[in-house]
Amino acid sequence: MTTNENYIYLDLDETLFHTEVRAKASTNAKRINFKLGTWWYCSLMRPSALDLIAYCRDLSLTRVLTNSTRDYATIACDLFGFDFSYEELVCRDDYIRYEMDGWGGYGGSARETAVVSDSLNRHGSILVDNLYPDDPGAIQKRQFLGIDASRYIQIREFRGEDPECFKEELHDIKTKIAVLVHGQSL
Ligand SMILES: [Mg+2]
Repeated sequence: MTTNENYIYLDLDETLFHTEVRAKASTNAKRINFKLGTWWYCSLMRPSALDLIAYCRDLSLTRVLTNSTRDYATIACDLFGFDFSYEELVCRDDYIRYEMDGWGGYGGSARETAVVSDSLNRHGSILVDNLYPDDPGAIQKRQFLGIDASRYIQIREFRGEDPECFKEELHDIKTKIAVLVHGQSL
């Protein structure tokens, strides 16, 4: 049951799963494979990802905030069974504005110009992300949410390996989330 109007935002890449872009699909049964354009995207779920998502949903409304594109995020989340709706997936184009250099209409290249603000102004939200807090990508996301570093929880990045420390650290991550949502530890 959700008890808090503010969102818990979860990052995707290196937080809930890890993706390798390859010329051919992976034969590893643990990976999901999907094709975008000419490349195969071979993704492996973080072992604790479903546990973490379920825990967050019990505490509060839960969304994704990712620097990836919507097509990639939608397919990966669907194949992993994360069950996020369209509104619950906040992707690159939802929070970064671009301007085209060169001809603009075709050709040229996109250049980031600004970070938009979350129109919902949920300044009590929390972000769980693998980036270091002072990484420009993490700063952009906090700027979008209107939160400061005190509401940012860095999770150890997942790159396809499952070190034992992940299990111990998941408890710490859950505790940090619970403290920020309710001001209480587990
Ligand atoms: Mg990430």
